[in-house]
Amino acid sequence: MKIDGGCHCGYITYEGEADPAAASICHCADCQQLSGSAFRTAVPVKSDTFRIVTGEPTVYVKTADSGNKRQQAFCPRCGSPIFSAPPGDGPKTYMIRLGTVRQRDRFAPKLQIWARSRQQWLDNLSSTRALEKE
Ligand SMILES: [Zn+2]
Ligand SMILES: [Zn+2]
Repeated sequence: MKIDGGCHCGYITYEGEADPAAASICHCADCQQLSGSAFRTAVPVKSDTFRIVTGEPTVYVKTADSGNKRQQAFCPRCGSPIFSAPPGDGPKTYMIRLGTVRQRDRFAPKLQIWARSRQQWLDNLSSTRALEKE
């Protein structure tokens, strides 16, 4: 389905096509640190449909233990993470950060990866005290 979205301050906007069944959660330590949260959610968008409509993301290149390099793109003004992608030109897949997708309510993740570093307290989330607002 067609998606669009952008960063919190509105500088970066994008559009593309994504399959709701392909949304996933990553529990790896890098995703926890780079997102500032317990895990990260993302959905793949192929480069032939992905287009930055406004703004220009800043790119941080992360080097994994394996030596693999990966671009982490974020808004230079508000810091919202936008996507990760392999470096270089040519056809590729962008992992769009689901929280920036306007249609995110329709993308319930179907897969969790790096579950071995999953925060244990997530198991109790449904029974953690919840307020409708702060
Ligand atoms: Zn922004
Ligand atoms: Zn990760």
